[in-house]
Amino acid sequence: MGMALPVGGGIGGLVLLLLFSALTGQNPVDIINTQSSDDTVGTTGVPADDPQAEFVSVVLADTEETWSEIFREQGQDYPEPMLVLFTDATQSACGVGQSAMGPFYCPNDQMVYLDLSFFHELETRFGAPGDFAQAYVVAHEVGHHVQTVTGLSSRVAAARERGSERNANALSVRQELQADCYAGVWGHYAARRGLLEPGDAEEGLRAAAAIGDDRIQRQTQGRVVPESFTHGSSEDRVQWLRSGLDSGRMDACDTFTSGTF
Ligand SMILES: [Zn+2]
Repeated sequence: MGMALPVGGGIGGLVLLLLFSALTGQNPVDIINTQSSDDTVGTTGVPADDPQAEFVSVVLADTEETWSEIFREQGQDYPEPMLVLFTDATQSACGVGQSAMGPFYCPNDQMVYLDLSFFHELETRFGAPGDFAQAYVVAHEVGHHVQTVTGLSSRVAAARERGSERNANALSVRQELQADCYAGVWGHYAARRGLLEPGDAEEGLRAAAAIGDDRIQRQTQGRVVPESFTHGSSEDRVQWLRSGLDSGRMDACDTFTSGTF
């Protein structure tokens, strides 16, 4: 079973690094427990049997099922992202990740970085409780992974370098809204598999509306943070998540040519 070692794991916040491509067809919870004995990088922070860690692994495995299916229909392979659960701070190929940043995806190492305390904050600070709200957060970061795989992220990065700062922010917003829409695409498939309960979609929409730029403003300056750009208004985020949820189609997520905002 392939297991990548973390970049700069000496920071001490990194507690788990799980290669979820190993999960296909197996119970993710068992895998987490199994891997933790061999492959846990640190021992403080997130216990391997933490219910939220298990929940995140289940969600991630389900996003992999969804995106593998979508990519297969297009005759392509879906390279699965890895997940890093951490507390406080961790090293990533995109710089130092800190809990205050919230979850982020690093295209350089194709890993999703998540501090589970964010879920608590999602509930208490942003008033977006519920398991689907948490799932949406994971699925949004996976959406950035999809953008990396399709080459969208590097096209945006190149365009951002060429343009003005204002232009760059507008591009970032479109990229973020597309990730919201991709999260919705996953939600559509999850619903088809009977994984959504009544009210789940609303939970996700509430979370989309709640997570805004104020969270981002808490970030430490001078760090390279993929999420350090504006994410768009609550209204836009809800609209694009809804677009993915309703359609289940990537082509319903073309935030770049759409004139809706
Ligand atoms: Zn994002």
